[in-house]
Amino acid sequence: MSVKKRLFGTFGVRRTANDVLTPEFASRLAACYGSVIKGKIAVGGDTRTTSRMLIDAVKSGLLSAGCDVVDLGILPTPAVQYAVRNYYDGGVMITASHNPPKYNGIKFLDEFGIGIPDEIDVKIEEIYFDGEPNRASWDSMGESYTNDNIIQEYIDTVVETVDANAIREAKLKVVLDCGSGAGCFTAPYLLRALGCELITLNCQADGFFPGRDPEPIEENLTELISVVKKLNADIGLAHDGDADRTICIDDEGNFVLGDKTFSLVEEHMLKENNGGIVVTTVATSQAIYDIAEKYNGEVIATAVGDLLVARKLKDENGLFGGEENGGLIFPGFVYGRDAAMTVAKILEIIAKEKKPLSKLVAELPNYYSKKMKVECSDELKEQVMENVAKEVSETTDFEIDTTDGVKILKEDGWIIIRPSGTEPIFRCFAESDSQEKADEMAKWGIELVKKYTN
Ligand code: MG
Repeated sequence: MSVKKRLFGTFGVRRTANDVLTPEFASRLAACYGSVIKGKIAVGGDTRTTSRMLIDAVKSGLLSAGCDVVDLGILPTPAVQYAVRNYYDGGVMITASHNPPKYNGIKFLDEFGIGIPDEIDVKIEEIYFDGEPNRASWDSMGESYTNDNIIQEYIDTVVETVDANAIREAKLKVVLDCGSGAGCFTAPYLLRALGCELITLNCQADGFFPGRDPEPIEENLTELISVVKKLNADIGLAHDGDADRTICIDDEGNFVLGDKTFSLVEEHMLKENNGGIVVTTVATSQAIYDIAEKYNGEVIATAVGDLLVARKLKDENGLFGGEENGGLIFPGFVYGRDAAMTVAKILEIIAKEKKPLSKLVAELPNYYSKKMKVECSDELKEQVMENVAKEVSETTDFEIDTTDGVKILKEDGWIIIRPSGTEPIFRCFAESDSQEKADEMAKWGIELVKKYTN
């Protein structure tokens, strides 16, 4: 089981802004982080109304702990990760990603720009609750800098990495919906640099998120979908609040599932590089494995969490990675989910294959999935997991993988049964070659959990 943490979730701290997440809280937590990490720390934030207040509080805390700080301003999370990896000793991003406007959060990065691991989370919490952060004396105060070049450099690097000429020649018509999040500062400029005919929706930065909810799920993207259809665009693109995820709408106005985007880019990356290591979580589609087999790839599966995928990619010198929610990681560029490189890669694929996105998606391996959940108190979770694993291994011949929860591999599909880290529930996620079978398998998983919770 994972370590018990008092403040941190899977990636930083996320709370109601100025309620729990006050400047005093942020400043002390940043001083604790600065006491552990030390050196020159970059700080950035998303477009929320409370981000500037928290950026300034975090900078004060870091300076107090004796760190130098570099203010990067308002920009996407992956742009901060890019900056840290190339220039700094650590980084702090103020964002609540896809959560509603009243929330905010603090993400802490290590020297590679990867979210800090659990051990460091725990160390920071210990200082926060049981100790005192380092407080520098008046004559050893750090310096406070700004760096306004990161956004341009981040965009330029993406453009240099792909075949920009091929994309320009394709003259793609793109509808972009930044949801008034941090992508407003990068995505429109990237698409123009790639020669696209650009139509923008919600591309004015606004912490009220007036156009749509920052979470790019299908029900929040109805406007984008209808504009793509009306204008006969080649593609619709949407980002979440801190622009680390990209969601695509195809040329027919269909919402493209994260698994599909992942498979499509995986195929392209493996072809381009004659194979390589692909890292994903145990909850992603069999399609990832099918494509890897076809194009000389090797898949490594971690427990669920983008930080774990990013760290594994670094440790294994991996080529590419991602999650089923459309968060794709290009470790040659940024050790974290990156929306801008995802956009550029997808446009490159459309341009080079000379096929519409709907056709490219239709050519991918196709599986059907079903997600269900069932209540279970936190105290019972561990025991339930053990019982489920025991029952399956004793009563069936199915192979079991316990990297995260219990994953049961059958001939015609798989099912993963995992306790939620934040809610008193178990999640069951099944995938098979027909919808009927996937539904049936998910139901079977739910019944298994229920047997031991009653
Ligand atoms: Mg995000």
